[in-house]
Amino acid sequence: MKSLRRALLDWYRVNRRKLPWRTTRDPYAIWISEAMLQQTRVETAIPYYERFLERFPDVRALATAELDDVLAVWAGLGYYSRARNLRAAAQRVVGEFDGELPGDVGSLRSLPGIGRYTAGAIASIAFDRPEPVVDGNVARVLSRLRGIRDDVKKPATIRRLWQEAADLARGPHPGDLNQALMELGATVCTPRAPRCPACPVARHCEAHRDGDAEALPVQSRPAPPRPVEAVAALVLRRGKALAVRRSAGLLAGLWELPGGEYSGSERPSAALRRALRERVGLTVTRPRRAGVVEHAFTHRSLRLHVFRCERPSGRVRLRGFDGHHWLPPDSLCRLPHGALTRKVLDLVLNPPP
Ligand code: SF4
Repeated sequence: MKSLRRALLDWYRVNRRKLPWRTTRDPYAIWISEAMLQQTRVETAIPYYERFLERFPDVRALATAELDDVLAVWAGLGYYSRARNLRAAAQRVVGEFDGELPGDVGSLRSLPGIGRYTAGAIASIAFDRPEPVVDGNVARVLSRLRGIRDDVKKPATIRRLWQEAADLARGPHPGDLNQALMELGATVCTPRAPRCPACPVARHCEAHRDGDAEALPVQSRPAPPRPVEAVAALVLRRGKALAVRRSAGLLAGLWELPGGEYSGSERPSAALRRALRERVGLTVTRPRRAGVVEHAFTHRSLRLHVFRCERPSGRVRLRGFDGHHWLPPDSLCRLPHGALTRKVLDLVLNPPP
């Protein structure tokens, strides 16, 4: 175990990539980077990280920010619950921990959006606590190193991986050790074609010895994304367009054009009239088709039929939304919105010739 740790640490100190969050020990900055890096590639996260810290340089700045401002800086990164949780957790840190992020895993995990992985990362990297982390990269490296041939999605395998990671973190420099495992997974022990001849821990590695590194980790195939049909419309009244804000779910707090999902047996234009009546209280006649936008979420693949409607009748009554604005169409882009709404706005505001 000692020589394995030493090999990882020596390799990491020479080979680690220069990333902005590796030049700080500020727990707040490390927390922001870890929140962004979940589900996001390093190269994508870097400019967001820099903009976020410039706009909200510490816990108090984030705690007192308007949610719309936080979402606007986050816009484009996806998984918006991360941004909402960051702000909610910052408010708790100010209220309960005097504005200082705690260093122990139990307190960290009591905060919104901080799970086992993020708590371990903050505790070990920012506070040098001997806490493990297991993300996709670490799970792959440990499966190969230890020759774990059980499905990594199974609870017993997950427990085993966390135990292996905990054993490794129980030595000097646990923060660097954890980052070494992650870095090795990202740059050497890659999912396909791992570079075993260049690997600092090859002599400890069971999969390398057995020649089946690429077959590990074993994982059951994820279910294919569920196809979903939906409608949305640019609804115009006296030259202004209706935008609505989601009240719940993954996209809560973000603005979009009104609409909703429907079952495949309905016609899209009929589904749109129904969705507008039920969800925003407006009646429209003769919606005009603007096109179709396709968008992939993690578990769903969406086909969104987009329309333009003018002169709706009725008063706005919201269901499933908690705010609305009538705005000049070209100002819609300034509201915090997700990647799907960006595609929809591109289509209705800049229609193809
Ligand atoms: S020897 Fe190969 S399979 Fe084993 S940890 Fe290193 S890169 Fe991964």
